[in-house]
Amino acid sequence: MDYPGNIFVVAAPSGAGKSSLVKALMELDTAVQPSVSHTTRPPRGQEKHGREYFFASHSEFDAMVAADGFVEWAHVHGQRYGTSKKAIEERVAQGADVILEIDFQGALQIRNTFANAVLIFILPPSWEELRSRLERRGEDSASVIELRLQNAATEMARASEFDFVIINELFERALFDLKAIVHAQRLRYSAQRRARADTFAALNIP
Ligand code: 5GP
Repeated sequence: MDYPGNIFVVAAPSGAGKSSLVKALMELDTAVQPSVSHTTRPPRGQEKHGREYFFASHSEFDAMVAADGFVEWAHVHGQRYGTSKKAIEERVAQGADVILEIDFQGALQIRNTFANAVLIFILPPSWEELRSRLERRGEDSASVIELRLQNAATEMARASEFDFVIINELFERALFDLKAIVHAQRLRYSAQRRARADTFAALNIP
């Protein structure tokens, strides 16, 4: 499928800093828009339907799966999460850049529909640091932290299937790396040819 916008897919084990990096990128670069996923998990805290997620019942989620409404969906931490076709297709067709913050299973599925999607994996600098970030976050009990660390091993084993890897040791450096990936995509021949059609025409480049 050919489309003018870029699709950036960011995956990481929990605690690697994925959400903070994506949030900081979108604050700096408003041309990158978030894809809002559907989930069967209930809202947390201040989360609003349609902003963080579209919160769906199991039967609503089933209906969307049956109607082929998802580009990808997966079971994550005992709940279901999915990216609807609507969340990205219209926007990339109009030339917007869309960023998906999803788990590694979903990220790898995105490629089946959007072959040009850019897959980015965020790694922590070490096991010790990942553990201490999960502990500092204070959201999880000790047993949940152990589970997250076990899952992290499975997730990180798939990092080789991604296009880019960012090691989130220093936040500012990792953000610089993420911006660099986004910028490089916008400089690809096909993207420049589209964005700067007048310049190409003036230069007689067919
Ligand atoms: P949380 O419930 O903490 O917001 O998210 C839990 C996990 O689900 C995170 O790793 C998040 O990236 C992932 N996730 C969120 N939306 C999607 C989605 O649409 N598809 C998939 N496959 N994973 C998602």
